[in-house]
Amino acid sequence: MADTTLSRRNLLGLAAAAPVAMLLGAGAAAQGAAPCVNPDTLPASQKNRRRSLNFVAQSPDPKKSCGKCAFFTGAAGGCGKCQMLSGGIVSAASVCDSFAPKG
Ligand code: SF4
Repeated sequence: MADTTLSRRNLLGLAAAAPVAMLLGAGAAAQGAAPCVNPDTLPASQKNRRRSLNFVAQSPDPKKSCGKCAFFTGAAGGCGKCQMLSGGIVSAASVCDSFAPKG
């Protein structure tokens, strides 16, 4: 009987904590999608290059992203540099038309 009560308490505790965990998870996902650089502060050459390559901050295709691209050199925090963008800072979650899978 005591085990049943504890189980119910544990379940109630989990049920109460689940929405909080979901909110924290959503916050982490949103942070992961955050750009590594403010696009508004980029020099015109970087803006034009990104525009010409159809660069997007968040890849719509999980199989294609900067983090999986041969031109990407990773750094801390999910950010890195892209050779096609002359070393411009990109997020591992971004992508552009010049994506080339790592060999
Ligand atoms: S070439 Fe495109 S997909 Fe590859 S790292 Fe650079 S911006 Fe990302």
